[in-house]
Amino acid sequence: MRKSFIFIALLAIAGLVKAQTMEKLPIDPQVRYGKLENGLTYYIRHNAYPEKRANFYIAQKVGSMQEEDNQAGLAHFLEHMAFNGSKNFPGKKTMLNYLESIGVKFGANVNAYTSFDETVYNLDDVPVVRDAIIDSCLMVLHDWSGFIALKDEQIDEERLVIKEEWRTRSGAQYRIWDKQLPVIFEGSKYADRMPIGKMEIVENFPYQTLRDYYHTWYRPDLQGIVIVGDINVDEVEAKIKAMWSDIPKPVNPAERVYFPVPDNDKPIVSVITDPEAVRTQVTLYIKHDVIPAETKQTKEGLIISFIKSLASNMLSDRLEEISQKGDAPFAASYAYDGEFFVSKTKDAWTTIALSKEGKVDETLASLIRENERIKRFGYTDAEVERAKATLLEQYENMYNNRNKELNNRYVQEYVRSFTGDEGIPGIEYEYDFVKKFAPFINAQAINAVVKQLIADKNIIITVTGPEKEGLVYPTTDELLNVFKKVEAENITAYQEAVSNEPLVSQLPKPGSIVKTEADNTLGTTIWTLSNGMKVVIKKTDFKDDEILMSAHAYGGTSIIPDADIYNANMASMVPSVGGIGNFSSTDLKKVLAGKSANVNNNISAYTQGFNGSSNMKDLETMLQLTYLYFTAPRKDEGAYSNIMDLIKNQLKNLTSEPSFILNINKTKAMYGDNPRMQVMLLEDAEKLNYDRIIEIYKEIYANPGSFVFNFVGTVDEAILKPLVEQYLASLPSGNKDAKYKNVDSNIRKGHVENVFEQEMKTPKTSAFEMYSGTLNYEQKNQIALSALKQILDIVYVRTVREEAGGTYGVGVRSWISRIPAGQSVLQMSFDTDPERVASITPIISREINKIAENGPEDTDFLKVKEYMVKKFQEDEKQNGYWVGILGSKYFYGEDNHSNYLALVNSLSKNDIKALTKQLVSQGNHIEVIMNPKK
Ligand SMILES: [Zn+2]
Repeated sequence: MRKSFIFIALLAIAGLVKAQTMEKLPIDPQVRYGKLENGLTYYIRHNAYPEKRANFYIAQKVGSMQEEDNQAGLAHFLEHMAFNGSKNFPGKKTMLNYLESIGVKFGANVNAYTSFDETVYNLDDVPVVRDAIIDSCLMVLHDWSGFIALKDEQIDEERLVIKEEWRTRSGAQYRIWDKQLPVIFEGSKYADRMPIGKMEIVENFPYQTLRDYYHTWYRPDLQGIVIVGDINVDEVEAKIKAMWSDIPKPVNPAERVYFPVPDNDKPIVSVITDPEAVRTQVTLYIKHDVIPAETKQTKEGLIISFIKSLASNMLSDRLEEISQKGDAPFAASYAYDGEFFVSKTKDAWTTIALSKEGKVDETLASLIRENERIKRFGYTDAEVERAKATLLEQYENMYNNRNKELNNRYVQEYVRSFTGDEGIPGIEYEYDFVKKFAPFINAQAINAVVKQLIADKNIIITVTGPEKEGLVYPTTDELLNVFKKVEAENITAYQEAVSNEPLVSQLPKPGSIVKTEADNTLGTTIWTLSNGMKVVIKKTDFKDDEILMSAHAYGGTSIIPDADIYNANMASMVPSVGGIGNFSSTDLKKVLAGKSANVNNNISAYTQGFNGSSNMKDLETMLQLTYLYFTAPRKDEGAYSNIMDLIKNQLKNLTSEPSFILNINKTKAMYGDNPRMQVMLLEDAEKLNYDRIIEIYKEIYANPGSFVFNFVGTVDEAILKPLVEQYLASLPSGNKDAKYKNVDSNIRKGHVENVFEQEMKTPKTSAFEMYSGTLNYEQKNQIALSALKQILDIVYVRTVREEAGGTYGVGVRSWISRIPAGQSVLQMSFDTDPERVASITPIISREINKIAENGPEDTDFLKVKEYMVKKFQEDEKQNGYWVGILGSKYFYGEDNHSNYLALVNSLSKNDIKALTKQLVSQGNHIEVIMNPKK
């Protein structure tokens, strides 16, 4: 019998944790888990965060792998049909109409996905304010599980929608997978089961073929229901028992086979190119057996998954360190251990890198070399300690916030438990257990496991990249030779270089808080600092240990002249590329191991700022990072040249990528030749100057005294005060009244039309329609425009997708800008059949004009209003929402919170009609249509 690595791994650690192994994990006592007589599994959990909301899921342990050859694509087709009529929701729109009437929005709250081995349907954030709503949502799950109508005429209508979904998804990536699967899964059913399926089947299958799939595979013994939220568990359990009593236990059910993936002695090599591919990717898989279900649900299962995370995180860190050097053959890379590509029956130790063009063999050599280095020398103790600290910190944060966990986190865990046999002991148990055994996990134990993973059989190498004249990829033999070459190399042990320096080596002279005010409208404290900076604090209990930070100031790229605009647009990446203080970005990661604090900077056209988050323990670290972002952006030529190589490679390849070409044309149509508003091309990237980019960064962040900072969450003013004085008030003031410059960002007026042809592999037409104008910049208009966008989402699903079968979806975007004040935009984008574009496009403006003349339809309007109220009730319990609200209030001087609900409630159909008319009647309409070149 062949020993799988798992058992060897266990031998390695058994001596260390013997007393605790082989024991089954308990099921979290807060979950009601059960099985009905007919085989249906359920997980129910009460969770009142947020209040009066619940998520309802049904997972099917079947997907495209259960299809026969004449059913290719029908698992996914069936998923679409679940929304088109069922026993208790007859009629095509009944179910979605009901759900949307209670504020449960299609797309955002109602959705589903189909993959190879599972199909999962979800209803999220259902407002469970009445028993009837709970009953109806259970009825939806019930109907999905056994009573989807599958009417002839609705099947025929959906064929068109799925064809359009296929068209929309048919980019380079899809074509690459389509060719790659048969190679890397040779001899397995996985080779030929892409869930989107085959269009000749989707277009022509007899109705009965779909019904056959449904009745064979959608049955209670393969179905799991997950309900988490502010519900009564006993009542919901009783309802499930009653409601599913009409679905009998299947008699002689078809066997649900998990199709195997064969082992391979010799490496399998797959090199796939596509003229529209943009990036070159090299992946090294080393397949191994999956962890058996029974093992996953034991303590050793937890230990194994902990060790696998540590091992792959450490390899990722080593690769990242290499990619920061200028001469690296690849620019980004990571490692993980998990499912082999898409298969449930084989796992793989996987290393992936984005290669620079023409460096495929060198990249592969790097990946093999780093694996070989681990095999020969293992990881160091210092690496292991750091990786453990990072992972334990994540557990601790989850544990600390365990009473304020969102429904979705639990639901995902239970769905994985159902479809992937994972244990669900609950965070209390898991954190306690992990804390106890972590000290026993040392480099020796991990190295013993990893050496088994890095085997010399079951190897798969995949290379994907652009197909270009003059670009040559290595042959299979050449790639295989790389193994021999690396094996013969004199590989040395990994040399660890970690700095013991403190983040901020020389503490600045602290400043002070010169004024304290309270604002009762939003419940905040406002400090004015000695350098002019303002700090706003709002203490909340939405999480038990979370502090969010944001900061804003005027300036942005507007203060940089036109000639330097591309350098200015790159300035925001200075800290992420080069690091801060004396730390490169990889060094920074090392010194922050075991800490929960992060800061990111952002630069837009008119403002700059920061976002950050930390727990209470690491608040000081977040402020130290912020201090360094202001005072010490670091230069790193190697990291910069490496990222630029990648960007230039991509820009070169993007010239034949249709969506990029469309984007260039859209931007031109909107902004003409305005030099500040162009898409960056290769020739622009060639002219970038790193020194100038760093200078611009410093210039933009030169006025700390003009910033307004916000802190939201479990923030204690007494603890924050000395930290703010030390790290923020100590910063130089600069120009406290720094403003932005008025630069041209106007959108072209009148009618602009651009219809052009582009070469592409899969013919599709992409259309972009836009109305623009000026509206009063005020909250009422913002709300009305947002409502109009959401109404159009509903209208276009009904008209363009369902009535015309013309597209998979119309994307609608809208905004009213602060600067320039009141610039208002409504954009619609969609893909469609080139043969049908002439009849589909007019629907877009027809529907907008209808609203401008008559207002929206009652039901559409009420659905959107219901959703906006529901969303607000959810948002106002989130720290993330408040960080945004404080930013608007104390930096821009707009209170977008206090009147929001009243404004939404007072919104009328007439308001929408008037706003639409006002926008459309300004006569600014841009149309860009990209057709395939014949
Ligand atoms: Zn779909």
